[in-house]
Amino acid sequence: MKVSFYTSQREYALKKEEFNRAIQVVLEKGNFILGEQVAQLENEIQQYTQAKYAIGVASGTDALTIASDILGFKDGKEVITSPFTFLASTSCITKHRGRPVFVDINEETFALDVTKIEEKVNQQTIGILPIHLFDQMADMDRIMDIAAKYRLRVLEDAAEAFGMRWKGQGGQYRHAGTIGDFGVFSFFPTKTLGGYGDGGMMITNDEELARKAKYYRVHGASKKYHYEYVGYNSRLDTLQAAILSVKLKYIDDAVSKRAAIAKRYLERLEDCPGVRLPKVKGDQKQVYYVFNILAENRDKLAEHLAKNEIGYSIYYPRPLHLQPCFKDLGYQKGDFPVAERVAEEIIALPIYPEITTDEVEFICDTVKAFYQGG
Ligand SMILES: *Cc1c(COP(=O)(O)O)cnc(C)c1O
Repeated sequence: MKVSFYTSQREYALKKEEFNRAIQVVLEKGNFILGEQVAQLENEIQQYTQAKYAIGVASGTDALTIASDILGFKDGKEVITSPFTFLASTSCITKHRGRPVFVDINEETFALDVTKIEEKVNQQTIGILPIHLFDQMADMDRIMDIAAKYRLRVLEDAAEAFGMRWKGQGGQYRHAGTIGDFGVFSFFPTKTLGGYGDGGMMITNDEELARKAKYYRVHGASKKYHYEYVGYNSRLDTLQAAILSVKLKYIDDAVSKRAAIAKRYLERLEDCPGVRLPKVKGDQKQVYYVFNILAENRDKLAEHLAKNEIGYSIYYPRPLHLQPCFKDLGYQKGDFPVAERVAEEIIALPIYPEITTDEVEFICDTVKAFYQGG
């Protein structure tokens, strides 16, 4: 049985009429740049997340870069973040000559270890950039406490965190990205809310930050050909917005299907030798964007899965402090032992709403057979 790590084709086949219709409306109107479907999706995302403002941009990477620029994560200022993430969470800081200051991760959540943040704060520190990775949010209570104490800005990389919610001191659950100064989403196709191409969004509750973000995505213009800032050319494509509005209608169903698949993996792999399973920490509503295990002999397991035609992915095989592009930061091997160990053990199994029960069973059997020699 061949199992893809991810496919958009099943979803498209199931809702073909609806997607085709949404695309056709845009093509007939020809409103490709910031058409009304972009404003509509922004409204829907404001409602869904309870953020006051939402600004659609070309990708999650651009959303991070623009937010970093606006928040002043640049020109030698230091931003405390995690080395165990996708490149864009750190390149958004170095793009403007800001300085990422890494702290190691928590072994269970894979998010930055909040007990290590405070010792890194100094006169140059301007912000904290937590990443809500894979299936859960970073400890936002602790992060917001430290930010308040030292007057730091918080940029939440919620690229993977659509649908995740955190129960803070206030008591009610708040959506990922709405707790810090800015939050960003990615609509990369594999993401929980993924488009059929690139896309991203910035959310905030601050009117001034929202105003700037709207200018920055159109070259810094307050109106056509009147430039307040030197900005970017980074708009969410109207076709993608139309597609994403269709997908957003079904998001709660998609999230619960992911939860059911994760539950099956957790049950079936619970007693599998050589495998450690993910745990959620803190009072939060998690979303299984990725289902990771920590696996003994990870690379051999990966070969075994490939031989059985099961797709897998490794997020992330090399932490950012060891990437050649960041060698000027001066970090070396051994600086962040938890991140380095996790990078050697982690492997993601297929999870998407349309995967079948038979496929999940086959994956579990294949993993178990590898460790139990079955
Ligand atoms: C996907 C992702 C991004 C980047 O999003 P793009 O839309 O691909 O540019 C940023 N950070 C994290 C943690 C991601 O997973």
